[in-house]
Amino acid sequence: VSNRTPLIAGNWKMNLNHVEAAGLVQKLAWTLADAKYDPSKSEAALLVPFTDLRTVQTLIEGDKLPLQFGAQDISVHDKGAYTGEVSADMLAKLNCSYVVVGHSERREYHGETDALINEKAKVALAAGITPIICVGEKLDVRKAGEQVPFVLAQIDAVLAGLTAEQVASLVIAYEPVWAIGTGEVATPEDAQEVCGAIRVRVGELLGAEAAEKVRIQYGGSVKAGNVVAIMAQPDVDGALVGGACLVAEEFAQIVLFYA
Ligand code: PEP
Repeated sequence: VSNRTPLIAGNWKMNLNHVEAAGLVQKLAWTLADAKYDPSKSEAALLVPFTDLRTVQTLIEGDKLPLQFGAQDISVHDKGAYTGEVSADMLAKLNCSYVVVGHSERREYHGETDALINEKAKVALAAGITPIICVGEKLDVRKAGEQVPFVLAQIDAVLAGLTAEQVASLVIAYEPVWAIGTGEVATPEDAQEVCGAIRVRVGELLGAEAAEKVRIQYGGSVKAGNVVAIMAQPDVDGALVGGACLVAEEFAQIVLFYA
């Protein structure tokens, strides 16, 4: 049995303005409180648009809600002439605990490479923000049965130059691209196969302690109805949840998977 606290993280993507955000956070907090949510059994984090961060921070800190929060992207630059970008310092000043780096949608629509994602992870860590680093194969790779070597090559690249201590502290999200937003969830065995292989690789690269401590999430069409079986896998330490996190009751049920 591992000592890793599972992390259930809701990726809002480009949904909810700051007024809608306040409504969802309050409803989620009430639902979790009613169900006697125990954050020591599963940590819950909200990964929200930049424009929602201040509102979400104010609610969570003001009401001492048992929720973490963070952003969906981070600039590799410190400051300066980078129109539209948001720096690590800006996110740290808002008390962000987490930031998603390398989501498949950013890889696909913004051309993000493993090398850039590696840089973003380093910038986040240097600012005291925990990166949630996303990896995962597309359908053609899965059909060819190449998912494990493909994802391990991504792991080698996104973790390059990080210390064992840094890797022990961060989160890796295994998100098979064919399962994101498609309703097609990987089987618990599929999730375990790749998450387990990632942990072995972290051990080879950085030693047993980093492998034991690093949290590895599964993401891809996680819902209240399938989370329990996925979380029962030994190397799955949580879930990165897209669509289902926009409904307070459903996300609460996912956070409460242990109940
Ligand atoms: C995601 O965007 O990280 C994700 C897993 O989305 P969904 O849950 O909607 O498949």
